[in-house]
Amino acid sequence: MSRNKDRLGMGETPSPEPSPPVAAMGANVFSFVAPTEFVQLPSEGRYYSSDHPLRNRETIEIKQMTAKEEDILTSVTLIKNGVALDRLLESIIIDKSINPKTLLVGDRNAIVIAARVSGYGNVYKTNITCPECVTDQKHNFDLNDAGILTASKVLSNLSEGIQKLENGTYQVVLPKSNLTVCLRLMTGADENAITKQIESDKKQQTERLVTTQLSRMIASVNGNDTPEAIGYVVNNIPSADSAYIRKTYKSLVPNLELKLGFVCTSCAHQEQMEVPLTAEFFWPES
Ligand SMILES: [Zn+2]
Repeated sequence: MSRNKDRLGMGETPSPEPSPPVAAMGANVFSFVAPTEFVQLPSEGRYYSSDHPLRNRETIEIKQMTAKEEDILTSVTLIKNGVALDRLLESIIIDKSINPKTLLVGDRNAIVIAARVSGYGNVYKTNITCPECVTDQKHNFDLNDAGILTASKVLSNLSEGIQKLENGTYQVVLPKSNLTVCLRLMTGADENAITKQIESDKKQQTERLVTTQLSRMIASVNGNDTPEAIGYVVNNIPSADSAYIRKTYKSLVPNLELKLGFVCTSCAHQEQMEVPLTAEFFWPES
């Protein structure tokens, strides 16, 4: 398979050999260096533009967490400013030409979870509130049980009428307005912008989550990619179309699948739930 790939000039197959020691200077002084590992990218590199270092790459090499990364994760300032995650990714990704903000959300999740497993182990103790009886209870989730929804799986299950285009977007026709929109997968930068918007909305006591998300997801409308066109559509499409976009988008994102079969200890309610990634994710003892 790799031979064919090479012949077609389809990007490099990642070498199975980990890179030479990361801390070259440290290696001269001590014999210990942080080991590295390869993390499978849910996107398989298929949505990155041709000038992105992860274009057509199926894995990314990361350094396992050390005390330096723990510092990042315990820095109150970094956490407050919301940059802790970007700093962590910057610190552990071996290829420094990769800007973590440009990583697709699903790929970021895969890296973060791999880092968590290497740093603090695979058991994630979290609190879950039963949706039925509202009792809080502890739940242990094995992060190694996380499934992976790869780009290949997404693309082989595309609903009729949805097409992935060469530029990495999906072309979708909206059921109500009949507009043709192209949806782009969101990156870390989009996620940060949405978080910022939510915070500024809170201060102004408004709520623009839906329109903010839509304006980040929509790359063009009937071929028009100007901010004015996208802005107009975002603010004027029927709710049915807006709901359709958000539901469809979710099914189009290659990502990790963190689902658990929840059984309430109090009322025996059963439900497939998404594992909530809360503060305890990186601070197992707090
Ligand atoms: Zn319950």
